[in-house]
Amino acid sequence: RAKADVAHHVCYYDQSMDEVVRARRSLASDLKAALDNNELDVHYQVQTSVVTSQIRGFEALLRWNHPEHGFIPPSEFIPLAEENGLILQLGEWVLREACGRAASWEPPYKVAVNLSPAQFVHADLAKLIIEVLMSTGLPANRLELELTESTIFQDKERSFSVLRQIKALGVNIALDDFGTGYSSLDMLRSFPFDKIKLDRSFINEAEENLQAKSIIRAVLALGKSLDIPILAEGIETKGQLTLLGDEGCDEVQGYLLGRPTTFANLIETGKISLVNKGEISLPRI
Ligand code: C2E
Ligand code: MG
Ligand code: MG
Ligand code: MG
Repeated sequence: RAKADVAHHVCYYDQSMDEVVRARRSLASDLKAALDNNELDVHYQVQTSVVTSQIRGFEALLRWNHPEHGFIPPSEFIPLAEENGLILQLGEWVLREACGRAASWEPPYKVAVNLSPAQFVHADLAKLIIEVLMSTGLPANRLELELTESTIFQDKERSFSVLRQIKALGVNIALDDFGTGYSSLDMLRSFPFDKIKLDRSFINEAEENLQAKSIIRAVLALGKSLDIPILAEGIETKGQLTLLGDEGCDEVQGYLLGRPTTFANLIETGKISLVNKGEISLPRI
């Protein structure tokens, strides 16, 4: 009887695995068409200074509106794109889109773009970034690239060398989801980051959990002594905002300050306006 159970279990397991695999495959092939079919969009989420309450910039977040399944979160389709290599095209598209938009923003806020591991390993990232900055006209210091430890984990040597080239252009480099990886502190020693983004999970528990609060304090102190600004991710309540402000956090991002939203909405709500192209003055010689 035990054997039959096992057989039944294995059979059941196989079938459901099969379905999962098939669903993933079909989603992955849909994603290939998504770019051409205009199903992708970039939303922007505001990043704010704690002290002055002024907007510092916006993080670009990829969105996929699937014709049948509707909105699919990045946590589902980014891993698929990373598996099938499509992330190179998607990543380039987001970069172009975000830099192009940001070049038209008034006032001149920064734009932060997320990067995936493959973009370091399989592409000439520095070359791409130079080309995108040139073609969009966005000044290098208004672009920030967000990466996690796992982004550069595949090939640390190569990634750091690429990062140094990019930073030399004047582009900002931010360490995303800080505190969730295995070697966060080692990362800080290896590269002069321009910003550290403290992971949302610590902010979530900041008010109830003493440990989380202690870790936040320690990271803020670390930022001060390394002279790297800290941004707290995932601020949802006034209490969290006050706490982070009291502890000396530099920047905040989260639903309380603003949800990720379309470019059109940023304009409608007056967060940004567009530069009058006619007034762009060329450098005088
Ligand atoms: P991330 O880079 O850490 O982005 C922040 C995520 O937190 C976003 O999720 C944002 O919508 C969400 N968030 C912001 N404020 C709050 C809050 O107050 N509460 C909660 N619960 N969540 C908040 P999203 O847009 O679903 O993106 C998830 C992840 O997908 C991103 O995490 C990033 O790792 C990845 N991703 C998104 N767009 C891109 C992209 O263009 N390229 C790459 N490589 N990855 C991307
Ligand atoms: Mg990010
Ligand atoms: Mg993050
Ligand atoms: Mg993340």
